[in-house]
Amino acid sequence: MEEIDFIKKSVKQWAKPEKVQGSLLNFPSSNYIHPSPFGVSLIIGAWNYPFQLTLAPLVGAIAAGNCAILKPSEMTPHTSALIKEMIESTFDDAYIAVVEGGIPVNQTLLKQPFDKIFFTGSPAVGKIVMKAAAENLTSVTLELGGKSPCIVEKTADLEVAARRIVWGRVVNGGRTCEGPDYLVVHEEVKKAFVDKLKKYITEQYGSNPLESPDYPRIINRKHFDRLTAYLSNGQVVAGGETIAEENYIAPTLLDEVAWEDDVMQEEIFGPILPILTYSNEDLLIAKIRKLPKPLAFYMFSTNRSTQKKFLKTLDFGGASVNDTISHLINPHLPFGGVGNSGAGAYHGKASFDVFTHFKSVMKRANWLDVPLRYAPYKGKLQLIKQAFKWMA
Ligand code: NAD
Repeated sequence: MEEIDFIKKSVKQWAKPEKVQGSLLNFPSSNYIHPSPFGVSLIIGAWNYPFQLTLAPLVGAIAAGNCAILKPSEMTPHTSALIKEMIESTFDDAYIAVVEGGIPVNQTLLKQPFDKIFFTGSPAVGKIVMKAAAENLTSVTLELGGKSPCIVEKTADLEVAARRIVWGRVVNGGRTCEGPDYLVVHEEVKKAFVDKLKKYITEQYGSNPLESPDYPRIINRKHFDRLTAYLSNGQVVAGGETIAEENYIAPTLLDEVAWEDDVMQEEIFGPILPILTYSNEDLLIAKIRKLPKPLAFYMFSTNRSTQKKFLKTLDFGGASVNDTISHLINPHLPFGGVGNSGAGAYHGKASFDVFTHFKSVMKRANWLDVPLRYAPYKGKLQLIKQAFKWMA
């Protein structure tokens, strides 16, 4: 709602043609940038926030003047059906339509010559989408995921850091695209910090998270099996309980994890937090720089020069310092990844821009037509040089 209100207030201004400075070589002329819709957009959503990830891009598509087809995730069929019902009762389907279905439906949609494709999902499917978009040379925005690092430096406020990291990792059962995927804690504070993480898991989800009304289950058996396989990595120091019949995995801390372990190879997307340690920040930066570029980066530190060093030298979509996830809430900050975590951004003004083609238009006056640019060119170079000298 905040995003809709913000965009409604601003869209008139954003959609206006903007007059820009002319160039001497085109004198006399007036020059404009005309925002115009791409045309028909395809918006493909992921399942972890199935409502938000389908409708938030739609807000931008509508603001910029596009028609759109929405394809919500088939993994959340109830939300998908609700979105269809809402959209059908609100919009003419020649303007905004919903197409439900799984991979075959998506494959069929991706063959159509859309003017814009906006995809939210995994890097693996992002590649499929980008290849399909290439066939029609369609503009594509990819909102993907990946392994977002979370560094806890020794100057961090450990109490606040533990509370905010537990929230960021465990909220929505750990299925937040830009949630902190793994922790790297300075070795001097590691032990104290792990104790605080345990304390906040209990404080937020009780001593038995199975009974917490705020703690969800894993979406299906496939993901349950994928996640439980990680529990043999490192050492379980909190949680670790599983109930297959319920797809339940307790919020789990894995200590003593190594960079080579399975849990460090793919995005976890579940309530499991691996903990690694570091002592030398330059080596840590060098290590992270070798990994695919993450969607988010988190740093808990009260040392400004250390914060600056990490923020400047690492590549990532967006970052929160001394918090997790929260930078995405601000509509004034574009949200998106880079490299393996995505291409393009949205939220706020960026949502309008991502669904807009900015037409450049120059209107030339007829009353002056300096013949310098027309052939024959013999002798004209000297004239041009003199003219520029005179103007300098
Ligand atoms: P996914 O890539 O499996 O599926 C996303 C969409 O692609 C679904 O609508 C699905 O129907 C379709 N799809 C799946 N396989 C396909 C195929 N072979 N061909 C064509 N279409 C196909 O992703 P997911 O499991 O729904 O979501 C999890 C991933 O999404 C994670 O990597 C997460 O980090 C990422 N994610 C990113 C953001 C973001 O805003 N950057 C938000 C949420 C989730």
